Amino acid sequence: MPADVRIGHGYDLHRLEPIAPQGAGRPFVLGGIRFDHDRGPVAHSDGDVLMHAVTDAILGAIGEPDIGQLFPDSAPENNGLDSRVFLEEAARRMRAAGWDVGNMDMTVVCERPKMGPRKREVVENLAHILGVPARDLNLKGKTHERVDAVGEGRAIEAHVSVLLVRR
Ligand code: MG
Repeated sequence: MPADVRIGHGYDLHRLEPIAPQGAGRPFVLGGIRFDHDRGPVAHSDGDVLMHAVTDAILGAIGEPDIGQLFPDSAPENNGLDSRVFLEEAARRMRAAGWDVGNMDMTVVCERPKMGPRKREVVENLAHILGVPARDLNLKGKTHERVDAVGEGRAIEAHVSVLLVRR
């Protein structure tokens, strides 16, 4: 008998550089929320590392191609694209396959900026896009203890676990 739940995992990392024109960084956006920071992701799209990891977690849970296969970074139309488009497409496929988000747990790892004061905004924005109550999503901010590229502020990463339930 087929299970009534599916689990998905998403991971993403982006290099952080000074914002253009000083470096190649784009404005810092996380979960669709703009943060004030002197560095930003180097990416073909807007580089929203959390949105990408959430998208891959959902696509993984339903056994669909990953974000890089659906939206190749070689495609000019994806240049600078709002990553909300990726998540909306994953959510559309999830619902079409007969699933809803049960709950989702997210961890963002970076030295700066601090997630804490903006966590609620990020969670509420993602919950809105996915059409679930904010209480079903959880976001944790961690540092990398000044070790390696993430700890030196040269990269940011996101880890996401999602549980899907039958619609
Ligand atoms: Mg990415």
